[in-house]
Amino acid sequence: MTYPQVGGHAALDLVDTVHWRLDPARWIDTLPTFDAVLAWGTQVGVLGDARSAALAGTHDPARADREYAAVIALREAIYSAVFEGSTDAAALIKREYVDAVQRSSWERSTDAASWSWRTPDDITGPRATVALLAHDLLASDLSAARQCGDDACGWVYLDTSPRGNRVWCTAAGCGNRNRVARHHARTKR
Ligand SMILES: [Zn+2]
Repeated sequence: MTYPQVGGHAALDLVDTVHWRLDPARWIDTLPTFDAVLAWGTQVGVLGDARSAALAGTHDPARADREYAAVIALREAIYSAVFEGSTDAAALIKREYVDAVQRSSWERSTDAASWSWRTPDDITGPRATVALLAHDLLASDLSAARQCGDDACGWVYLDTSPRGNRVWCTAAGCGNRNRVARHHARTKR
């Protein structure tokens, strides 16, 4: 399984683990389990490989289910806060962020002269990581946040194109499919 990385921010990549978000009949959640969350975080580089490997499959299933549900709730809150302006969603992200900071420790980077949060090594670590990412995204300039122009796709991204005119999640995927569909519609007429 390869997760999409078109968001330009890991928190938006997380939102994009739902495919066909705008079509309830086709909606697919590619993160069905806690282990899938670990695989996602490892692929996009927000959870260390070794830490993810240590957590995968070895945990208390009931706790893993709770952590999984909390990560998914955060994912949906990111979408609602950024694209629907939901204050409830922003409040959930605040609670999880405060909790994440409480449970994390400061770590001084050896190469850059900065400090960053080291999230817990235990099963709550992935949730803390996602909460920190969500806070980072919400506190950033969101004027470039966009949703794919496809009717159903629903993938989101930061439009960093020079002219700020990116319409599709991917040119090869939704861009191409919509161009072909428009061409067919034109030739039929
Ligand atoms: Zn798309």
